[in-house]
Amino acid sequence: MALVIQEVTKRYQNFVAVDNLSFTIEKGEIFGLIGQNGAGKTTTFRMILDLQETTAGTISWNGESIHAIDRDLLGYLPEERGIFPTMTVEDQLYFFGELRGRKKKELKEDVNYWIERFELEEKRKAKAETLSKGNQQKVQLIASFIHKPEFLILDEPFSGLDPVNKDLLKEAILFLKENGTTILFSSHQMENVEELCDHLCLLKRGVSLFSGSLLDLKKQYGKTKLTVRTDMAIEELTALPGVKDVTIGKEQYTLTLEDESYAKGIFDIVSKGDYIEKFSLDYLSLDEIFKDKVGGGNV
Ligand code: ATP
Repeated sequence: MALVIQEVTKRYQNFVAVDNLSFTIEKGEIFGLIGQNGAGKTTTFRMILDLQETTAGTISWNGESIHAIDRDLLGYLPEERGIFPTMTVEDQLYFFGELRGRKKKELKEDVNYWIERFELEEKRKAKAETLSKGNQQKVQLIASFIHKPEFLILDEPFSGLDPVNKDLLKEAILFLKENGTTILFSSHQMENVEELCDHLCLLKRGVSLFSGSLLDLKKQYGKTKLTVRTDMAIEELTALPGVKDVTIGKEQYTLTLEDESYAKGIFDIVSKGDYIEKFSLDYLSLDEIFKDKVGGGNV
């Protein structure tokens, strides 16, 4: 295990922001930390980075206490965005790279590579303050890993990016992973977590509700989402055995089943022994699971 968080608690006076949290991250994986506003994600990041003390518990990286490791092994994109307003994009990247121990000569190739990859060529010589918010964020992102950290923490890296830039970021995260970087990130957009993460931890008011693989989380609910195209009425579908809920979509219904074992019986009734245009049984999306877990919703 690369990162081990063991029974970590953070208390501010009487308020418990992180409550006896444990999870592990394997080397070279992408790990998602999800939770509503105020769940304790940023606090957890700051404790891992040793920017904030833990009230109790231990955190280690490659077997060494987080207090003892070389800071340049870590990279961090904080939630509050900030860059030097009057420095050019290019100078900014060299500055952060050199600050974290890399030589200017060695940095050149990487700076050029990432400027091009994040479509910032035209802005290379522009002062950061003249850039759009999204472009400023891309510069800050590159700055967080230009020194090639082993472990990169990204707090809400997708917020404020348009769909094209979100894709650029997703590809960049996967590229960094392929090159051996271990990545921990938070996002309120569950589709990003679903697409990128190997493992995840779901926090609710500082308490871990789940920590493990995305598939194991999905298996807790089973394949209970049934999408079906039929001319049956919604009342008929609602009355079928094992059906908890029915919603009408575009030319199809989505049924929530009590258990996936009911699917066969429903198929026999809906198909009436004939072929059927659409009948698909799936796991719930992470978004649906998240809403159920944190909101105690009706899934
Ligand atoms: P968001 O998604 O909104 O960024 P988060 O999951 O990152 O939220 P944190 O910023 O870690 O949440 O905050 C967790 C809780 O700890 C919140 O209730 C917050 O108000 C509280 N908190 C954070 N810092 C302090 C502090 N310095 N003093 C007191 N309470 C704090």
